[in-house]
Amino acid sequence: MLEFSRATQFAYDYARANRISSWKTLHEKTYRKIRGFSMLPSQLCCKAIKLALETKRGCRNRKVDFRRELSIQYDHRSYSFDFSGRCSLATINGRLRLDLRVPEYYAKTYGDWEVRGAALCRSGKDLFLNVIVAKDLPAPAIGASSRTIGIDLGINNLAATSDGRFFKGVNNHIARLQGLRSRLQSKGTKSAKRHLKNLSGRQKRFMRSINHEVSRRIVSRINSGDMIVMENLHGIRSRRRGKVLNRLLSGWSFFQLRQLIEYKALRKGAIFVTVPAHYSSRECSRCHESRTERPGNAGFFHCLNCGYSCNADLNASFNLRDRADAARNVLGLFVNQPIVGDSISYSGKPTASAVGS
Ligand SMILES: [Zn+2]
Repeated sequence: MLEFSRATQFAYDYARANRISSWKTLHEKTYRKIRGFSMLPSQLCCKAIKLALETKRGCRNRKVDFRRELSIQYDHRSYSFDFSGRCSLATINGRLRLDLRVPEYYAKTYGDWEVRGAALCRSGKDLFLNVIVAKDLPAPAIGASSRTIGIDLGINNLAATSDGRFFKGVNNHIARLQGLRSRLQSKGTKSAKRHLKNLSGRQKRFMRSINHEVSRRIVSRINSGDMIVMENLHGIRSRRRGKVLNRLLSGWSFFQLRQLIEYKALRKGAIFVTVPAHYSSRECSRCHESRTERPGNAGFFHCLNCGYSCNADLNASFNLRDRADAARNVLGLFVNQPIVGDSISYSGKPTASAVGS
C-alpha cells in the first residue's frame, strides 16, 4: 500500500505540475520513473497512474495526499476473485494467493454477477477487499400497471413517496451525535480527540445502515417497469428551511441514500430518473401555482390559490412525479424510452448495468 500510494502520488504531482490530462502522455512520462524507484509490478504501476489521473480530474483545485488513506486499486490484470473464496492479489513480492471466507449471503446474491475491480483498504489493523460486481439487467417489464413514483428526501421525513409512504426523519439522532461532537470539540484533550474520531466512524456507519434500511423498504414496493423520480442533487442542500435544519441536513448523506435507492431499484427492473427540484416544495401539486405559504409550518403545505393542503413532503413528492410525467409527455416518449435532455437525466436503459460492492 505504501508503494502504491508513493507511485500514485508521484504520477499525480507530475500530472499537476506539467498540466497533463492525457493518460497516454502521463504514462509515457512517468512509467519508467516509477518502475525505477518503486518495487510495484507493472500492472499496479499502470493502475496507479490511472488513479492519479482520475483523481486529478475529480479534484481540480485541491492537492490530494494519497498517503493519508492507504489503499490499492485492483483490476482484472492485477487480481482475481471468485465467490468460492479463491483470491489472488499482485503485490511487491509477486502474486499472493488467499482463501477468503465469503459470507453466504453475498455468495447467494452476487454469485452469478461479473467480478470487476476491487480496492484493498485498511481500517485500523484490519484489511478489507472491496470487490465490485456488475451484471446486465433485464429490460423493465412495462405494462398497464407500471407506475411513476416520486420520492422526496428531507429532514422531517427522511423520505416521502408519492404512493403515500413516509420514512421517519433522523434529526433526533443527528442532533444527539452533533451535540456530543461539539462538546468534545470544545474540550480538545487527547482523549476527546480519540472519541471524536470514533464518533465520526460511528456516525458514518449509523447513516449507512439507516440509508440501507430505508432504501430497502422503499424499493420493496417497487415493481419492474415502475419509474422512480427523484430530484437531482443540487437542490437538496440549498433549498429548505432555516439555519439549524440546514446544519442537520448537511450532516446527512442524501447522496448515498439516493444512490442506494437507485441501484436497488435498477436491480428490480425499475426505471430511475432525476428531475430539477426548483420549488418542488413551494409548488401546489393540485393547481401547480407557486403562490403559497412558505412550507415549514409544522411540515404542512397550504395553497393560497386553490386552498389545497397536504403534508409538505408528500406534496413535494407529487410534484417530482408530475414533472417526470409531464416531461415524458412533452417529449412524446413511451415509458421505456430514455428521457434525454439537459434537465432530466436517466438511468436504467434495458442494457444498463447495476453495480454493487
Ligand atoms: Zn393549489
